[in-house]
Amino acid sequence: VAFLGPPGSGKGTQGARLASLWGVPHVSTGDLLRQILLDEPHSELARAVRVIADGRMVSDETAGEIVARELERPEAARGFVLDGYPRNVRQACALQAFLGEQPPGAPPPHSLDGVIALVVREEALLHRLAGRLTCPNCGASFHLQDDPPAAEGVCDRCGHRLVTREDDRPERLRTRWQLYHERTEPLIGFYRERGLLREVDGEGAEDEVFDRVRRAAAKRGTDWR
Ligand SMILES: [Zn+2]
Repeated sequence: VAFLGPPGSGKGTQGARLASLWGVPHVSTGDLLRQILLDEPHSELARAVRVIADGRMVSDETAGEIVARELERPEAARGFVLDGYPRNVRQACALQAFLGEQPPGAPPPHSLDGVIALVVREEALLHRLAGRLTCPNCGASFHLQDDPPAAEGVCDRCGHRLVTREDDRPERLRTRWQLYHERTEPLIGFYRERGLLREVDGEGAEDEVFDRVRRAAAKRGTDWR
């Protein structure tokens, strides 16, 4: 299954929960990119990833290579949850080619059973992102009002100091949403045409949203149409 949704829609959290429910890997490009910079800072791949520091996107080729490496692992043989990939139609085509372009409903691992698109209004996104606190060490995220850490400004998971990501500042949010509308939103039509799309209301408490995600994700194969 792959997740789609604008920045702040909660697809990372929901994707991780679904993967853990199913006992399959949560393949998050954000987490993978962080991990590559930590584990293999001098590799060719790390050099290609470092463009993010200049505010650029990782190339389609690099993103594809990183995801393919994860999907080829034996842990992914029973299935996987993709989060942050594909980000545009070109990447979606590359993924489809990689997965062997089998029809929906073919047994895993070499097919996508469905795509969950989280739908959230822009005002709700702004509230979420403007209050978001992120741990630069382990990637955990909190919210000033909705999900504050136990100790102010400190990560519950690893004890590191929390920060507001550059990316979550209002002026950067506009740019991120614009990028999403231009490049990623066309994927909604792309997957609808292929009978794989499930739109899920992404507003409300995390548990409520997860209930909807779980119900949508339980429908497989031709049920997705
Ligand atoms: Zn942390």
